[in-house]
Amino acid sequence: MRMDHIYSPWRKVYFQRDKTDPTCVFCAAQETEDSPENLIIHRGERVYVILNLYPYSSGHLMVVPYQHCHELAELPKETLEEMICTASKAVALLESIYHPQGFNLGMNIGSPAGAGITAHLHMHVVPRWTGDANFISVIGQTRVLPETLEETYERLKAAWDQQE
Ligand SMILES: [Zn+2]
Repeated sequence: MRMDHIYSPWRKVYFQRDKTDPTCVFCAAQETEDSPENLIIHRGERVYVILNLYPYSSGHLMVVPYQHCHELAELPKETLEEMICTASKAVALLESIYHPQGFNLGMNIGSPAGAGITAHLHMHVVPRWTGDANFISVIGQTRVLPETLEETYERLKAAWDQQE
């Protein structure tokens, strides 16, 4: 599956961090105030939306349950429902702002599946453009994106707050 290929540049960074830092980044992020620092653009009842620190493309975000859990079966039905409904909202929002030509939505469960953070489930929402894998330069682990993460944060947070 393509997901494995496109996430590989930053996967390594997460692996290294997992080994040196026992703190779960998704649990830690929800404890801090929303800003371009913690990258959280929306908080729902059971899930929140956070920008990916190592985005594949502009607007790459994740829908994360507040509950620390690594198995889908452990999540209550209400949380699963809110995850997919929130992902759907995110797709609509990203469409209106970035006009991508497609999306990858998915969860990498377990290390062999490409999950960087295995202990806390999260769903990726990645806007895609034809040929984006070719024109986005990868230098070491730095991707060259058309806008900074802070710009993406401000745009998406404002848009999400507006639609509430
Ligand atoms: Zn966690």
